[in-house]
Amino acid sequence: MISKTNEWMIGQLSLGEFSSRKAVFSRSVWMAAKIAAFAYLLNVLSHFGLVALGLLPYDLAPALVIATVLTPPVSFIVALLAYSVVGFAVYDLGVSRQRFEELSRTDMLSGLMNRRAFLDAFEKSRGPVSLLLFDIDRFKAVNDSLGHKAGDDVIVTVAAVMAAAVKGRGVLSRIGGEEFAVLLSGVAPQDAMQLADEVRARVAEVSIGTVGRVFSVTVSGGLTDATADRGFSEIFSDADMALYHAKATGRNRIVHAASLSSAAGDRNRQQAGLSDTAVMLRRA
Ligand code: GH3
Ligand code: MG
Ligand code: MG
Repeated sequence: MISKTNEWMIGQLSLGEFSSRKAVFSRSVWMAAKIAAFAYLLNVLSHFGLVALGLLPYDLAPALVIATVLTPPVSFIVALLAYSVVGFAVYDLGVSRQRFEELSRTDMLSGLMNRRAFLDAFEKSRGPVSLLLFDIDRFKAVNDSLGHKAGDDVIVTVAAVMAAAVKGRGVLSRIGGEEFAVLLSGVAPQDAMQLADEVRARVAEVSIGTVGRVFSVTVSGGLTDATADRGFSEIFSDADMALYHAKATGRNRIVHAASLSSAAGDRNRQQAGLSDTAVMLRRA
């Protein structure tokens, strides 16, 4: 009984039946009506029981009239009050729980999905996927020359441009400082490459106005295609390697992991000035 009640409470906290204040009220009215009918029935049956036992201290007819006039409205009002107080409290808890869950899955600066939510989306994906990693080029220079606020504005603008470009075609996330990831499910490899390059081009075209300056930034991207049975870190590694190849070969470009031989990968990692440890740390 207690575990059933717990299950029910948890179900309500997910805003099951109590999805809106109106739903709480309608449900309360319905429950109060049922409770009032039950209370009335119980009252009448008790009277007949007392008559049968010869214990009723007054006449049955006026007692039934009083029971009919009083029991349904009184029990309805009491049940309605009790049920709505509990119902609204459960609804409020459910709303704050939902809000908290949203916050824990959202990147506060860009408003995009965060890394945790992105990993969940990856876990839930079925069939072949493509993973696309983007990193803003020479972003540190923006911070160093124009300040952290300008850097934040760049991240927000790039995130908005990417969101508009990817909309409806994939799952976009800000997975780290100036790094973004896109998960594409069931998209043909050539379409994934086309989308990646479209996003890159749209970012490069945008003028960013902040701290009294107008400028633009570029992004580099690494793309890989994989079956969903491969683990995230394995796929991420491939896309990351491709991203570093894009950095090493001039930035503002997309590189597909399939185009890399392991020798070329190592060479480009060295050209990009990354030690093996740095690369491993980045992937951790
Ligand atoms: P590359 O072209 O090789 O990617 O060079 P980069 O300068 O973009 O790369 P680097 O990794 O050296 O710089 C990333 C910088 O991003 C360093 C860090 O201070 C900054 N950063 C990380 N998160 C944020 C953030 O939320 N806001 C701001 N303004 N800066 C951030
Ligand atoms: Mg970076
Ligand atoms: Mg960068």
